Amino acid sequence: MKRAINIAENGTRESARIEARLRKRLGERGLCVADGFDPAAELIICVGGDGALLRMLAEHSFPKQPIVGVNTGHLGFFQELGTKDIDMFIESYIAGKYRKQTYRTVYADIIGGEGGPTRRMRALNEIVVRGGGSHLAHLNIYIGDSFIEQFCGDGIVISTPAGSTAYNYSLGGSIVDPRIELLQVTPIAPINSTAYRSFTSGVLLPQKLSLAIFPDYPQSRVLLVAADGDGTEFIGATEIRVGLSKDVVTLLRFKDYDFWKTVKQKLL
Ligand code: NAP
Ligand code: MN
Repeated sequence: MKRAINIAENGTRESARIEARLRKRLGERGLCVADGFDPAAELIICVGGDGALLRMLAEHSFPKQPIVGVNTGHLGFFQELGTKDIDMFIESYIAGKYRKQTYRTVYADIIGGEGGPTRRMRALNEIVVRGGGSHLAHLNIYIGDSFIEQFCGDGIVISTPAGSTAYNYSLGGSIVDPRIELLQVTPIAPINSTAYRSFTSGVLLPQKLSLAIFPDYPQSRVLLVAADGDGTEFIGATEIRVGLSKDVVTLLRFKDYDFWKTVKQKLL
């Protein structure tokens, strides 16, 4: 049986050109590229930026196969390979010269309210909970079984180590080495006044604890929950539970890859 590989690309001209080149080179080395998305393929190549990877994951319900990213002119934090690395990648892949890096994902269960039973969202970077229609979010936050605070502000970001360099970082959150398994909860514009008190810094949760959010709705009954930047509005949800999932996203890493080198290259 021929070994099949999926290629997902983000629709730009450059990505389409790289896809065509990958198809040709992989074919020459006896590897066949699936037409469309073959759920039994052994590898997924994602061409584009980080956004292309995040959208591919959402579209295909977080496939279990290893993924390799080819960056076509974006920030490309996950996307290790440049367009010049294609031959190196194919030879290394065939020779088994790579390692697998796993990233825990984060889930959010939206419970109660309109829209039926519990709905689950998943993300690689982060879950964001905000007020709907630009209203203030009033969120009663529990860690494990302990009540922590009544948060008032724009919302909160619950990020994985993988997502620590994305939205979380823009909010002043810490960059987390992905070898540490935790969730980071970072406030978006928390109010601190004699009327409201919220933590102004981020909070780190160990992998086994989940976050329970019980919203109050003094103005609008709408909350926006976003997974990797893709938001859905929920009306009257009574609880949102967020935790680190056992399900992982697996990326292939090649010889020169180093997380901290990437941080320095892309963020400084
Ligand atoms: P986008 O509009 O293209 O912008 C998001 C930027 O963040 C892009 O430059 C993207 O890289 C980069 N990025 C994504 N994941 C990253 C990671 N793990 N580490 C470092 N940078 C990362 O949106 P998108 O490409 O669909 O990405 C969705 C993500 O945008 C969300 O998960 C959230 O983290 C982020 N976001 C950030 C802010 C903010 O910083 N204020 C606000 C909303 C959303 P590429 O250029 O390679 O795509
Ligand atoms: Mn993007």
